[in-house]
Amino acid sequence: MNNTASPPHLLEKLSKKGLNRLLNCRELPCCLHLFTDYDGTLAPFKADPSQSYPLPGAGGLLLELNALPNIVVTLITGREPEDVRKFLASKEIPVAGLHGLIYLASGSDNREFLGKNDLSLPTEVKGRIRQIAEEYYGVSLENKGGMLALHWTPESRFSPDGAREELEEMLLEAGWEVLQGRQVLEVRPAGWHKGKAVDYLRSRLAASNSGQEMTAAQAEIPAIYLGDDTTDEDVFQSFTRPGFTVYIKNEDELETAADYYLKDPLEVRKFLEQLLQEVQKK
Ligand SMILES: [Mg+2]
Repeated sequence: MNNTASPPHLLEKLSKKGLNRLLNCRELPCCLHLFTDYDGTLAPFKADPSQSYPLPGAGGLLLELNALPNIVVTLITGREPEDVRKFLASKEIPVAGLHGLIYLASGSDNREFLGKNDLSLPTEVKGRIRQIAEEYYGVSLENKGGMLALHWTPESRFSPDGAREELEEMLLEAGWEVLQGRQVLEVRPAGWHKGKAVDYLRSRLAASNSGQEMTAAQAEIPAIYLGDDTTDEDVFQSFTRPGFTVYIKNEDELETAADYYLKDPLEVRKFLEQLLQEVQKK
């Protein structure tokens, strides 16, 4: 990771300075874009992704925030977007799944491709990933609409470094890259990441608000981004002001390019409660 440091704690800064100053706005802006990751951010991290339920109350807070006229909430996740909707039991919140490659608008089931629209991996790579999942105890396979991910439990003897190198060699020049996150190894289209999806969605919101093409910075629509993993660091590195980014530390080191940190999903819920109070005051 580049440009990493130990940032200040968000809730402490918020109580000292208030939301407007953290957003660099004199008063609460007319519109705020709130992006949040799912696993390890809204839901306590689980090695088995099928057991990753949101923290009680966190989904309800997001729905309340999303229902306000001055807030646009977007969930952004490495999972398939429909998968996260099941956990939230709601279609109201827009979801950008598969690292922001596929977008579902509020209330819609139509998949919109924000990045590459052919997500089928080379057959030999698929075969090798399936083989690895069978070879090791404690390793499971997640099928993400043609893309595959390997998850492993802490008890597994699986070595992600060896598998990553092998897959990287197989994928050389194929337009894909291997990504290692929190107990997950997966392959995604090269050159695409959550940061690009966030930039694109912010500029789209800016254009729809102003009626002309402009970036979020030009339109001065602030955003807040919450995330806990390597894939979120791409957003922390590419994020443009106004607004701020927040790293959810969980059990890891406090080494990140984000502006602030929160300890865990419990603190994320606390932050969402405070944010709701602030914006309702307006
Ligand atoms: Mg996560």
